[in-house]
Amino acid sequence: MKAVVYKKPYQVAVEEKPKPKIEHPNDVIIKITTSAICGSDLHMYEGRTGAEAGIVFGHENMGIVDEVGSGVALLKKGDRIVLPFNVACGHCNNCEASLTAFCTEVNPGFAGGAYGYVSMGPYQGGQAQYLRVPWADFNALLLPEGREWEEDFILLADIFPTGWHGITLSGFKPGENVAVWGAGPVGLMAAYSAVLRGASKVYVVDRVPERLAKAKELGCTPVDFTRGDPVEQIINLHGGMVDRAVDAVGYQAVAADGKKEQANAVLDALIRVVRPTGGLGIPGLYVPSDPGAVDEATRNGELTLPFGKLFEKGLSLGTGQANVKAYNKYLRDMIIAGRAKPSFVVSNTIGIDEAPEAYEKFDKRIEGYTKVLIHPNG
Ligand code: NAD
Ligand code: ZN
Repeated sequence: MKAVVYKKPYQVAVEEKPKPKIEHPNDVIIKITTSAICGSDLHMYEGRTGAEAGIVFGHENMGIVDEVGSGVALLKKGDRIVLPFNVACGHCNNCEASLTAFCTEVNPGFAGGAYGYVSMGPYQGGQAQYLRVPWADFNALLLPEGREWEEDFILLADIFPTGWHGITLSGFKPGENVAVWGAGPVGLMAAYSAVLRGASKVYVVDRVPERLAKAKELGCTPVDFTRGDPVEQIINLHGGMVDRAVDAVGYQAVAADGKKEQANAVLDALIRVVRPTGGLGIPGLYVPSDPGAVDEATRNGELTLPFGKLFEKGLSLGTGQANVKAYNKYLRDMIIAGRAKPSFVVSNTIGIDEAPEAYEKFDKRIEGYTKVLIHPNG
C-alpha cells in the first residue's frame, strides 16, 4: 500500500509499505477514506523531535472497517468510523475517567498514545491506504453510512475536540470573553467552539491574513500581531483584560518577522491578557525538550514562566493533549443535527501522491493550505 513516510527534516515521501495485519484479537484494519495533516506533524517534519526515518505519519484518520479481529464485538466489516488521534486501552484508571489522552497502558513510560507519532507508541499512522486500529471497539466512533459530512467528521479525530478542549481547559463559562492565540486549525476550532458555547466576544491572534479572515467570518475579532503587541491591541479593543485565553500555537511560536520566537512568549502574553482569577487553556504543544530551540532553557525542556504574575493574578491553567473520546460523540451529533460545521477550516483535499508538496506548503503557512485532507484511496 502507499503511505506518507518521514525521511529527514523537511522531507516526507510516498512509499510502498506492507498492508497492516491484525496483530491482536481486539484490532480492526480500516481502509482509509480521509486522513489529515496536522500542525503536530510539523514538529516531526521540521526535525524538532527524534522521529526516525521510515515512520508513517497520520494521527487524524477515518475510514471503512476492512478486517475484524476475533475479539471485536461491536464493529463489523463495512462500518464507517473515525478514530480519536489518541490510542487508548479503555480500562486503565485514566481511560475509565474519560482521560484517554493519558492512557497508562498503551505506551508505558509515556503519558498517552497516538498513531504515527514519535514517542507516542508503536502505532503506524494513517496517511496511508490502510491502518491498524488497536482496542478498536473502544476507540472507534461509528458514523452514518456513505460519504456525507466527510470533511466535518474527519475533524473529529483531533482538531474540533482539541479546540473544544482548549476552551474547556481555560475554565470558560457561557457569556465570558476569550482571546485565542493562533488561527491555525486548532486555534480556529477553539474560537469556533467558544462561539458555539456562547462567548460574548472572541479575539483571535495570528499573522497569516487568510487564517485571520476565517476567524473574522466566524464573528471573532482578528488581531494581527505584526501590527504591535497583541496584548495591548486586545486590551485597547476590549477596554480591559479578558476572562479566558487559549494558547493554540505551542512552543514553535514565531515573532512578528516570522523568525523563531522564545518558546515562553505566548504563555507570557496569556498571563498578561487574562483578568485576575481568569483562566488559561493550553492545547498548544510543549515538549519535554527541544534540541532545535533558540534558547537553552527550551533545549533542556526548562520553559520559564512569570509564575509570580500568575500567582498574583490567581490564574488557573489547564494543559495537555485532548481527550478526544470525551467530546467526539457529542460533536458528531452536533454536525449531524446541523448545529456545527467545522469544515469551514478545510482549505483543500489532495491525493496521497501530493502529500510531500502539501507538507511543504502547510509548513510555510502558505495561503490555501490552512487544513489539508488526504484521500489515499482516491
Ligand atoms: P499551526 O502550527 O499551523 O497553527 C499555529 C498558528 O499559530 C499558525 O497559524 C501561526 O501563524 C500562529 N502563530 C505562530 N506564532 C504565533 C504567535 N507568536 N502569536 C500568535 N500566533 C502565532 O497548526 P495547528 O494544527 O493549529 O496546531 C497548533 C498547535 O496545537 C501545535 O502546537 C500542535 O502541535 C498543537 N496540537 C495540540 C493538540 C492537543 O491535543 N493538545 C492537538 C492538535 C494540535
Ligand atoms: Zn492532529
